[in-house]
Amino acid sequence: MSTPDVPRQGIHITEVGLRDGLQNEAVVLSTDQKLSLARALMAAGVREFEATSFVSPRAVPALADAADMMAALRREMSGLHLSALVPNVRGAERAMQAGVDSVVLFVSASESHNAKNVNRRVAESLAGFEQIARLLEGTGVALRGAIATAFGCPFEGNVSVDAVADIARRFADLGATHLSLGDTTGMATPPLVTERVTRLRDAAPDLPLTLHFHNTRGIGLANVMQGLALGVDRYESSIGGLGGCPFAPGASGNIATEDLAYLLEEMGLETGLDVERLIEAAGRASDLMGRPLPGQVSRAGARLALSACDTVPTARGEA
Ligand code: ZN
Repeated sequence: MSTPDVPRQGIHITEVGLRDGLQNEAVVLSTDQKLSLARALMAAGVREFEATSFVSPRAVPALADAADMMAALRREMSGLHLSALVPNVRGAERAMQAGVDSVVLFVSASESHNAKNVNRRVAESLAGFEQIARLLEGTGVALRGAIATAFGCPFEGNVSVDAVADIARRFADLGATHLSLGDTTGMATPPLVTERVTRLRDAAPDLPLTLHFHNTRGIGLANVMQGLALGVDRYESSIGGLGGCPFAPGASGNIATEDLAYLLEEMGLETGLDVERLIEAAGRASDLMGRPLPGQVSRAGARLALSACDTVPTARGEA
């Protein structure tokens, strides 16, 4: 595979485990438990978190402590970049009161998913964003866009690249500083990554892209490789691969932060993250959730984590 445009500079990783990861887990963590996980992530060098979501506590009980979580993270360390999802003006007001750095406005590229997710037409969601953008003006809080089902929809199948490009243009017009393409249910493939990234760069050339892959079908990191080949330098992941897919019980969630950081480090790309410490954080996440998580590097250790020779039986006949 030729990778002529692989970014030579650092790669930005936003940790989304506290939001995307926990939102789809059955276990509801306390603010203190979430903070203990965040501490482990900070110890590994994580400075950018999608910290929570200012949605209805009834809709997402796991994130009902949004304001407390923001305050706890702020107390814990200065210099963090904290973003939060908001579904409407009320959510944006709460997020701003809580001191977020970025508000993430999200809309699905498919009508059925947007209806399931926020009970609105795509056009209604986009119209609502204008009011939020005005609210943010002059406050110093950045507006980020996120497009869910950007690579496929669990209800509609293929999602047209035109629909994704139209939404990208709208976010550019709203003054978004970044746009995340969400592979909400793990339907991205390398050719789709190429198609969408190429098209969006035409549609909204000044809007930096972030890729948000789920490993639902096992090719999350293959999609990252494709993104790197296209020069994309921003990715979102969750520690341990926390999370799941609400439409596929038992399916795995986001790509695991430690797996992503391991891949990037082995490619000589700077992430600012410490893989060994991320593995410790993944262990903490697994303890908190009370189950093994799907991330893989944490099972075997990084590539040069050597086994003690005399603990491995000889002559097992393994290839
Ligand atoms: Zn996601």
